[in-house]
Amino acid sequence: MGYIEPAPIRDHENPFESMMSRFDIASQTLGLDEEIYNVLKTPAKQVIVSLPVTMDDGSIRVFQGYRVIHSNILGPSKGGIRFDPAVNLDEVKALAAWMTWKCAVVDIPYGGAKGGITCNPREMSAGEVERLVRSYTDAMIEIFGPDRDIPAPDMGTGPREMAWLMDEFSRAHGTTINAVVTGKPIVLGGSLGRAEATGRGVMVSAMVAMEKLKINPYNATCAIQGFGNVGSYTATLMKERGVKIVAISDISGAYYNEKGIDARAAQIYRDANNGLLEGFPDAERIDGNELLTLDVDVLVPAAKEDVINKHNAHDIKAKLIVEGANGPTSFKADKIISDKGILVVPDILANAGGVTVSYFEWVQNRLGYKWTRDRVNRRSDRIIKAAFERVYKTAQKYDVTMRIAAYMVAIDKVAKTYKYRGGF
Ligand code: GLU
Repeated sequence: MGYIEPAPIRDHENPFESMMSRFDIASQTLGLDEEIYNVLKTPAKQVIVSLPVTMDDGSIRVFQGYRVIHSNILGPSKGGIRFDPAVNLDEVKALAAWMTWKCAVVDIPYGGAKGGITCNPREMSAGEVERLVRSYTDAMIEIFGPDRDIPAPDMGTGPREMAWLMDEFSRAHGTTINAVVTGKPIVLGGSLGRAEATGRGVMVSAMVAMEKLKINPYNATCAIQGFGNVGSYTATLMKERGVKIVAISDISGAYYNEKGIDARAAQIYRDANNGLLEGFPDAERIDGNELLTLDVDVLVPAAKEDVINKHNAHDIKAKLIVEGANGPTSFKADKIISDKGILVVPDILANAGGVTVSYFEWVQNRLGYKWTRDRVNRRSDRIIKAAFERVYKTAQKYDVTMRIAAYMVAIDKVAKTYKYRGGF
């Protein structure tokens, strides 16, 4: 408890501006109609709520909660809920738009949304978090719904919070409605394979990208920033495929071993150590920012936004960046990185495995059926690989980066849907 997160070097762009700059470039390259551009540039709905919660000491604290629905033209909106002290409306707006593009890139029938509560779950008891989740769910009772808006975990939340949300929503409706939220514990209708799904998608996109770059995974090294759900599963799955993980990090610090880190052992250590890598043996402690500029083949930023920015982009030595986090590269860093010839598999493609398996969870809930882990993995791998090829081909055709190509694939789908549906 009480760890101070090392301040990331920010370059005063915010994630929303970074998202919009790419959206603008992709829209221009596509020749998007101005009308559709105007519809897509602003979120469809933004909800801000105040959530009074009784704390364990009897005091009442008021938390600020958000849910932004960027678009629901492709289907019910989908996106996680973030618990973090830095959560603010601009960030949630960017994350909501990214969900629209992400769902469209992997071609699943959802719009995009995101929620957040400004809080520090690490400093709250389970009871306090439960009351906060229930209060948030009550405030959003008209927003959420299996055909309306379907939340899921994001930074600072997981299956436990999704279980409380499902329960609170079900109580209010007098019947169990498990399809209202994904990322639930398995016994409550969660999907096999969901926990590792985002990391698995990152691994799959990294493998396809390495093939394109003719990097042999058995000779490749990788550094991973962030050792939460995404980073830790990416690490174990990449290692299983022969990649040497030389550095990992979390808010407690960064850990380096040129001989390779046993990612599974690190996961076990973290779980027994209050969720942190602090004191992780068999590795040298290095500076968190140094991890990003290590001389490795693959760099996976799997923590927060804007960690690769104009201040450090010049120093990046990796040949390939696979974005496990949402928005880890700032807009200004894009050009520096592409001028250096580094291939970037963008967030809206690389980390889409999570929402893809969320979609499978929702499908299973609605069918009242359960798929095997094998079926889940096979289908999500297929979706990520197909999306990768779509984006890669678009990048070659228009001579743009994979990031701009991913936005183009997504915006084109959403724009076509608007055109067919009409009704303005
Ligand atoms: N929060 C995750 C993301 O950013 C998952 C969203 C979901 O499963 O709906 O993609």
